[in-house]
Amino acid sequence: MSQFDVAIIGSGPGGYVAAIRCAQLGFKTAIIEKYSVLGGTCLNVGCIPSKALLASSHHYHDALAHFEEHGIEVGKVKLNLEKMIGRKQAVVDQTTGGIKFLMDKNKITVFEGIGSFEDATHVKVTKNDGSSETIEAKYSIIATGSKPSNLPFITLDKERVITSTEALKLNEVPKHLVIIGGGVIGIELGQVYLRLGAQVSVVEFMDRIIPGMDASLSKELTKVLKKQGMKFYTSHKVKSVNRKGKAVTVEAETPKGEILSLEGDYCLVSVGRRPYTDGLNADKAGVKVTDRGQIEVNDHLQTTASNIYAIGDVVRGAMLAHKAEEEGVMVAEILAGQKPHIDYNLIPGVVYTWPEVAAVGKTEEQLKEEGVAFKSGSFPFKALGRARAGGDTDGFVKILADAKTDEVLGVHMIGPRCADLIAEAVTAMEFRASAEDISRMSHAHPTFAEAIKEAALAATDNRALHV
Ligand code: FAD
Repeated sequence: MSQFDVAIIGSGPGGYVAAIRCAQLGFKTAIIEKYSVLGGTCLNVGCIPSKALLASSHHYHDALAHFEEHGIEVGKVKLNLEKMIGRKQAVVDQTTGGIKFLMDKNKITVFEGIGSFEDATHVKVTKNDGSSETIEAKYSIIATGSKPSNLPFITLDKERVITSTEALKLNEVPKHLVIIGGGVIGIELGQVYLRLGAQVSVVEFMDRIIPGMDASLSKELTKVLKKQGMKFYTSHKVKSVNRKGKAVTVEAETPKGEILSLEGDYCLVSVGRRPYTDGLNADKAGVKVTDRGQIEVNDHLQTTASNIYAIGDVVRGAMLAHKAEEEGVMVAEILAGQKPHIDYNLIPGVVYTWPEVAAVGKTEEQLKEEGVAFKSGSFPFKALGRARAGGDTDGFVKILADAKTDEVLGVHMIGPRCADLIAEAVTAMEFRASAEDISRMSHAHPTFAEAIKEAALAATDNRALHV
């Protein structure tokens, strides 16, 4: 029987990063993945393919709607969806191939098959052909991720009533795509198909889209997407989804108690994701799974079996690739006797629409609820030379700082390249910067990042320079 120091179940961003860090720290490491391709949700059907389609559809839309204002005449712009989806797959293949290379480079043994516990130190790997082998591991890390969730009354036929996985490989642009759920995944994929010419309607149970983020971001994103043609039905409770031939009818209860009926040709169900532990036999190892299906862990990500840890989407907290990666590194370092730490308050959240939305730290709503006295400074991108030069003037940066100490407590932004700009806010907050600290740093001109400096100036003493 093969023996390892650490066996990792699942090769998503949590699992493969944990494997690399374990190998760097000198552990004999195995990774078990049920699919033949490594990389998990993020690389195969999540972050990477969705960003590839967002990029391609953005280029298409720019060619259609914005080239002319820049003085570029291209004649008739034509969409080749098959090629666009093919390119996305090539990006995915290249990226997942890179993970295989990293496993080999770090001498990590890869097992293809379903990993299930026989007990706390033995994991059985069952291959596609039914054959199996058992490995022994001193420590295990569960990184089995998540799957799309559903509402109990919806039948996902995966042709017309689909999840994000199918939405990444449609062979036609929907005429009318009805999206159930106005969270990050629904809104990103909605913008892809909106740009490609679909009518897009979003039905959301809560009173706003991207409900976990600062309300000012939801408001601005709704405004911009409405301008781009997306339709929103917030505070609507979906009651039924029925498919007849190519037509899908979604019925939802309006805030007034009436029934709204939307007829589309595709319905994307994006109502969140559920932790995935099917086939793991967690109980055989003494690992407790909570009522919500998550693996129960303590502050060190240790499960109820002391030699087994769990990370990523399968445990509590934000379902984000970079959160899973941080946890993978943390567990590897704990196993090596180090004392790593993750500040969960400083895990940024991003929506990769255009304009991009990004945030870190506390929202205004959270600070009010916690009774923290704070001040706020905002700066609109339309007042920035760089934004006007590029024609990307929607959005703003908002900085929330402690009323007494001036420490930055939250940064919320919507606008061009905010997905990258948020890293400055994370750095500042990691070092417990004050708004004034940021406002006194030189920011290159003309850059989008100047909006952060200006918002910090606004938060410091209401002394933004360019508004
Ligand atoms: P996963 O990536 O889900 O990997 C788990 C792996 O474990 C899978 O490969 C699975 O096959 C394997 N597995 C499960 N059970 C077993 C078993 N018993 N034996 C062997 N293998 C098993 N996050 C971001 O941060 N940024 C984004 O832009 C972003 N975009 C997204 C877009 C979409 C459309 C979706 C669906 C998700 C997106 N996410 C994004 C979320 C991100 O994909 C997840 O947070 C991330 O993949 C979680 O990583 P993980 O390692 O915990 O699990």
